This record gives sequence, C-alpha cells and structure tokens, in this order.
Amino acid sequence: NKFVYAFEEGDKDQKDLLGGKGANLAEMTRLGLPVPPGFIITTEACRYYLQHGRIPDSLRVQVTMALRRLEDVTGRRLGDAVDPLLVSVRSGAKFSMPGMMDTVLNVGLNDFSVEGLVEASGSERFAWDSYRRLIQMFGKTVLEVDGEAFAQALDDAKEAKGVTSDVELDADDLKGLVETFKAIVEKHTGRGFPQDPREQLDLATEAIFHSWNSDRARLYRRRERIPDDLGTAVNVVTMVFGNLDDRSGTGVCFTRDPATGKTGSYGDYLVNAQGEDVVAGIRNTLSLDDFKKVDPDSHKELRRIMRRLETHYRDLCDIEFTVEKGKLYILQTRVGKRTAAAAFRIATQLVDEQLITMNEALDRVSGEQLALLMFPQFDKSADREVLTRGMAASPGAAVGAVVFDSATAVAWKARGEDVILVRKETNPDDLEGMIAAAGILTSRGGKTSHAAVVARGMGKTAVCGAEQLVVDVTAKEARAGEVTLREGDVISIDGSTGEVFAEALPVVPSPVVQYLEEGIDAAVADADKDTAELVRAVDRLLGHADTVRRMEVRANADTATDADRARRMGAQGIGLCRTEHMFLGPRRELIERVVLADTPDARSAALDALLPLQRDDFVELLTAMDGLPTTIRLLDPPLHEFLPDRAELMVKVALAEERGEDVEHDRKLLAAVNRLHEENPMLGLRGVRLGLTVPGLFALQVRAIAEATAIRLEAGGHPHPEIMVPLVGSLMELHLVGDETEGIVEEVSEAEGVTMSIPIGTMIELPRAALTAFRIAEVAQFFSFGTNDLTQTTWGFSRDDVEAAFFADYLKKGIFTVSPFESLDRDGVGRLVRIAVEDGRRTRPDLTLGICGEHGGDPESIHFFHDVGLDYVSCSPFRVPIARLEAGRAVA
Ligand code: ADP
Ligand code: MG
Ligand code: MG
Repeated sequence: NKFVYAFEEGDKDQKDLLGGKGANLAEMTRLGLPVPPGFIITTEACRYYLQHGRIPDSLRVQVTMALRRLEDVTGRRLGDAVDPLLVSVRSGAKFSMPGMMDTVLNVGLNDFSVEGLVEASGSERFAWDSYRRLIQMFGKTVLEVDGEAFAQALDDAKEAKGVTSDVELDADDLKGLVETFKAIVEKHTGRGFPQDPREQLDLATEAIFHSWNSDRARLYRRRERIPDDLGTAVNVVTMVFGNLDDRSGTGVCFTRDPATGKTGSYGDYLVNAQGEDVVAGIRNTLSLDDFKKVDPDSHKELRRIMRRLETHYRDLCDIEFTVEKGKLYILQTRVGKRTAAAAFRIATQLVDEQLITMNEALDRVSGEQLALLMFPQFDKSADREVLTRGMAASPGAAVGAVVFDSATAVAWKARGEDVILVRKETNPDDLEGMIAAAGILTSRGGKTSHAAVVARGMGKTAVCGAEQLVVDVTAKEARAGEVTLREGDVISIDGSTGEVFAEALPVVPSPVVQYLEEGIDAAVADADKDTAELVRAVDRLLGHADTVRRMEVRANADTATDADRARRMGAQGIGLCRTEHMFLGPRRELIERVVLADTPDARSAALDALLPLQRDDFVELLTAMDGLPTTIRLLDPPLHEFLPDRAELMVKVALAEERGEDVEHDRKLLAAVNRLHEENPMLGLRGVRLGLTVPGLFALQVRAIAEATAIRLEAGGHPHPEIMVPLVGSLMELHLVGDETEGIVEEVSEAEGVTMSIPIGTMIELPRAALTAFRIAEVAQFFSFGTNDLTQTTWGFSRDDVEAAFFADYLKKGIFTVSPFESLDRDGVGRLVRIAVEDGRRTRPDLTLGICGEHGGDPESIHFFHDVGLDYVSCSPFRVPIARLEAGRAVA
C-alpha cells in the first residue's frame, strides 16, 4: 500500500486520502505556487493505526524514502548539525476542524542541530527560540505534558529578568529556558526530550493519529456530523521561518470578506512571528494594507496568488502564508468558511463574475444559512450606548449574562440562562463553552482568530479583539473604561457591527424576513448597501430554487393568520391544518358537552352547537388559501386532552364534597375523565379510532368543511379543501370514514345546489399503514406522511419522554448523530416511506404524496423526500423559504 505521497503526486480531489490540507498543498504545488516541499502520510495509515494500535510496517520505509527525497530537494539533512532541515508535522483531515488537531513546528531541532541553525540563520536568539518552541509544543501535544508548566516557566524567566514580553528575552535567556523545558519534560515523562530527529517525526505522527480521537475532536465531529471513521492525514512540510527578522512574518488572508461577503481581500499579518501567533490573537495584527506598506513585493505576490486561487477554486479561499526574509511561502489554502450572509452574497457575486452557474450558486448556500439570516437583529433605532467595540467577527444579535469560563457557560446554559462567554482569546479547550454560549466576546485577535473562525463555523454571534476591554478571568471581571462587568451582568453583543453594550438591547426582525413578508422593494428601500445586496442575493437564489425545484412546498397552518403568513413566505398550499386547535379556549366546554352526553340526542345537540363555529373557521381558512390546496386533518388527539387534569379534578371534587357543595357536574366530568384515561394515550383512542367510536364527531367536521366550501363557491371563490384522516392502520378504517364523508359531501352539494369534489386521503404514520399502502391507496386519493408519529411508532419511542430520558446518552454513544425526530432516519423510517410511496403509486398512479411532520422543514430530510419522489413537503410557515431553497438544491 502506498501510504506516503509527495506534494507533486496529489491533487485537490483526493481529500479522502490526503485530507483537506494535504490535497490543497498538493494542488498548489501543481499550480506552481511557492509551497515549501513536503509529503503527506495518508488517512489510510491513520485508520490502520486507530484499528491496530500501531503504524503499518511499510510506513516506516515509505517515510524514510520520502524524507530522503525531501532532503535531496532541499539539499539539507533532517536535524543535521550543519544547516539542518526542519519540518512541521501537521494534521489535516478531510473536513477542516479548526484547532482540533495538533501541529508541531520545528521538528528536527536538538542539542546539535540548534547550533547548525544558529550558523545557518546567523541568529542565535532565533535558533534557541525555535528550539524552545519545539520542546514546548512537542511536550504539550505529543508527550502530553501539562502546557501550564511551560507557560509558568516562561513567565518566571520574564519575571526574573524584569521584562513583560517574550521578545525581550535574549539568546542566553532562551538557552536557559530550553534547559528548564527539558527538565520539565524529564520530570513529567520520566525520560529526556527525544534528541533523535526521526524519532521526533515518528512520535509526532503517531500523536496526530491519536488526537483524532481526543474528546475535543469527537465533540466537534458530533456537532458537525462528521463521521468518526475518516481518520486524519499527516503533512510533513519543510519549515520556513516567519520569525527570523523584521523582513519576515506570518499571516492569514481571505480572498473576500468572510463575515459580510464584501468583495476585496481581507487579512491579518504579524511581523516577525511564527505559526499560531496570528491565529491565537496573542499580539494585535496588521491589516493587508499595512502589510503592503511594510513589504510591498510580498504583498503584490500574495495578491496575485489570491486571484489565482480564487479563479482556480471558483470560490472564497482562505490562505495561510509566511514570509521568510522577504520571500513569500503559501502554507495552506482551503475554500473558506463564511457566515450565512457572506455565503449568499459571494455565491451571487461569483455568478456575476461568470465563475459559476446559478445551479452551482444554489449549491453554495444552505437552508440552515437562510434560517440564520431570519434571526432577529438589534433594533438600531433604540436608545443605546456603546460600551466598547471589537471586530464584527460573526454576525447576529446576542444578549446574555457574562461568564468568563467554559464550565460556567455550560452550567448556566443547562439551567436555562443565555450567556455570553467573555475571554481574552479562546482556544480549543473553550469549545464546549462556546457551544453553550449565545455569543462570544474576546479582547484579542482578529477576524481570523480561533474564536472568530469557530464562531462563524457554528453560526454563533461573536465580537473579537475588543482591545479596550481588560479581561481578568481569574477575578471574573472585565473593565472597559469606567465600567466593570462582573459574572452574571447582562450584556448585548452585535456580531454584525462589533459593538458591545452593557445592557439587554431590544431586537427587531431581520431584513430577510422583511423581504419575505413585504417583498424586495420594501426591504431594500431604507436598507444600507450591505443589507440591500444581501436581500437581493437571497431573492435571486430563492427565485432560482423556485424555478428548478420539482417538489412543491406547503405549510402547516391552523388559522387564517398563519395561512396568510405562509402564503407570503411562498407556500403553495396547506399540507396540514390541525383542527384540534379549533376546539380549545372557550370552545373546550362544547367538547366537554359532547363527551358528557348520555343520550344520542344530547350528543348531537352538543355537536350541532359546534358546527357553525367550525364552519366559520373553515370559511376563513379557505378564503385565506383561495385557489390553493388546503389539507384539513380530522380530529387527532385523545379526547381527554380537552378535559381537565385528572388529579386536579379529583382534588376539586373531594374539597367541594367536604364543603357540602353541589358537585354533580364535576363528578360526572371526573367519571368521564376516568373512563377516558389511558396509560399510553399516544397509542390509544385517537385519530380515526375516535372518529369511528364517537358517533357524529367526524361527521360534524366533514359537514363543516363541505358547508364552508359551498359558502366559498357561492361567493365566487376557489376553495380546494382536502380531507385527511389521521392514524389509519387498515384499509377498513378508511373505507368507513370515506363512505360517511362521501355521503355528507353529496348531501351538502345537493342542499346548497353546488358541485364540489373534496379529495379524501390519509396520513401514513403507522408502520402498518406504510406496509399495506397498496391497499390503502384503493381508497386514499393522497398520502401525507406523518413522520413524527411514524418515527415514534417505528422506533417505539415516546417522543414526549425520550428526549429527556436517554437521547443525550444515545447521542454520546453514537447510536444517533442527530435525533431521529429532527432529521429523518433514512434507514428505518425512510424505508417505510419508500415502501408506501412505491406501493401506493402502483395501486393509484396519480396518488398525491406529501409529508407534514417536523421533517418537512429539515434540509437533510427534504433531500430524502425529493429522492423518494414526494410531490410536496409541508412545514411551519417560517421554514417555508428554507424548504423552497432546499427543494431547489435537491435538484440543482
Ligand atoms: P491548523 O490546522 O490549526 O491551521 P496548521 O498545520 O495549518 O494548523 O499549522 C498552523 C500554523 O503553523 C500555520 O498556519 C503556519 O503559520 C505554521 N506552520 C505550519 N507549517 C509550517 C512550516 N512548514 N513552516 C512555517 N510555518 C508553518
Ligand atoms: Mg492549530
Ligand atoms: Mg492552518
């Protein structure tokens, strides 16, 4: 097996094997860009290691060969005493996992080669600083020595010398520090710092393989739904030095602004610095414009490469680069992460620049991003006073209580409080706190800092590099001028402007929602340039999705108000109107009378009282949905949901009896509640079962629908009601309801002198219904998959209980990567859906097929529904735009 690839041997499409970083380093090498020479150890080697607990035998030899080639190309020997070759050992999985895995720089330095580096670089200080960094990084990530020990020793050295910054330590100080660091390693590991360069390389490689399964990496993968069995590649790259002198430096840049999507490059540069210095936000950085001033030639070269990469990848790229004595090297590129707003804007910009097609543009955005854009923002017209400012690192409006550490963020969030995590800078250890927080605020670092990158990836609001904020994590306070923020104080942060406020600010709807509600002209009328461009991009992409998608999108809406909103959001009908909502509030009493009726006459009197009310509801709904299909579901929940709580009622009756009051009514009610009580109501007397056991109940609803239809027809409207029967498990059930329905519709048609046909169909929400769909379709004119109940009944999970009871454990154990109630379980529930679709259509080729569970608004599930051939998805009105976009993406 070939486990090692030279950069010249790979390309960008080999991410599975070479990891993202490796594949792109290979691609850039092929493009002739200035990438330092190196090689890649494949993910396959990693998978072998994870499986067998050791590296594959042939890997050693292959690394030896690759190293030889590298030494030949560079004309140097790894860890030589004269002009040594040094390398970085860098992880790189298929999907970028910022800060998750570990990179070790300066591998190859030891007590001898450090002298060689002194000679070659002409700087004693530089060489010893590099050695110091190697022991520190290697000790921490490879040998698992507590990083604090090194940090402490560094602080001690500075204190002893009476200085505050690292750069004030001279060569002798650093030599001393190297000795101290070596002693720390010896003390913590029981052996000296490995002097053999090859052993350093091998240990670092194994450590990177091993780190694939660190808690942090697992947590990130679970969150991002990245499979656990991919493994990571390892990149071995010739070191170049940004920390040699003032003509050297290191930086990160984006070919467009990843926060807003504005055109024009964006980046941070740090003179005389190495590696993580920029990203860690330890010192404040130069902008690209300032970089141009200090090193115009490198800047020009970088600009040229940025354009080259952008046209090559046809997308926003982010780039890591280093300048060594005025010579530019590119150390990494990838298609850059971006905010939701940037994604929409960049996608349409690239279309206008003729780099991609509209279909590709659609592929560059997602329903989840659109959902983020629909979140509210701070009300700009409200009275407010800016406490301090930082970089607008990741947009959104977050309000919450200040916390200073990850553990507190997690704990407070668990008790239901919104928190803002405030740090000097963040590092991978803060990940859990960042997930828990509503927003993140740091005092150091730019748009490319760890906090910013991770926050954007999570769609979380962040303000970074608020330099005037003095954060004291130990004292749990942050000062900005006169104001001191303490743990628990509520603040607001605006990730779109970088502003921080020492109060809870009011929030307003997003411009994208305004656009959806009122149209493009209203939304861009008073908008600033960025907002207007964003809204136009959303409009274009949604419009394109509408033209390409095959599936229709309907909404779940119970009232005329919801129906109106749904139409504005672009719904092409109602896929689910839940009639039980019409029986709540003051009408509850009328249902009570139905349940308590002891004679058929009393019952029909009670039902008759409900008729006009239901009819009016439907008239309103059909008016709002004029011209569009409106699927009305007959009563579904168990009747006792409309009656008082059993325990409360028992107490009430007992108390009243004691006081000798008249309890006749309540006693009757209690008897009914007792009679209707069920241990498993969700599997009990509900849906069609109710319709078949409570005489007149469904008939009342059907009559109300038919009469409302007649009223609308007479008024010149175009009502398209459809009657949907819930919880059908057998054809016979549907037959019985169907016969009765037909009779009523005919009767009303005749009485009113109108012709109408109201399709009747069923929910498919029981496994038996799915499995006997070929029979059920004999009667049903449409199916609508009720995937909530279908998930519940397929898994045997009680939806109301399991989330709290054991889902967290199941997620942790990897039994699910996501709750099956959130994203459809394709293998199980999806299989039933597929069976019902195929069998149903076989019986009735023109069967209409839709879905009205929560899954109708879930992007991944929508793609599945497209694949199995459903005619429409139905979801809540606010998810309609998301479903439109995803249904389009499913085709594009
Ligand atoms: P990450 O995946 O966290 O971005 P990298 O492997 O990209 O980790 O390494 C982090 C940084 O270390 C790089 O951005 C670069 O500045 C520095 N670095 C890595 N390899 C080299 C090298 N061969 N020469 C100089 N600097 C390097
Ligand atoms: Mg890193
Ligand atoms: Mg990197």
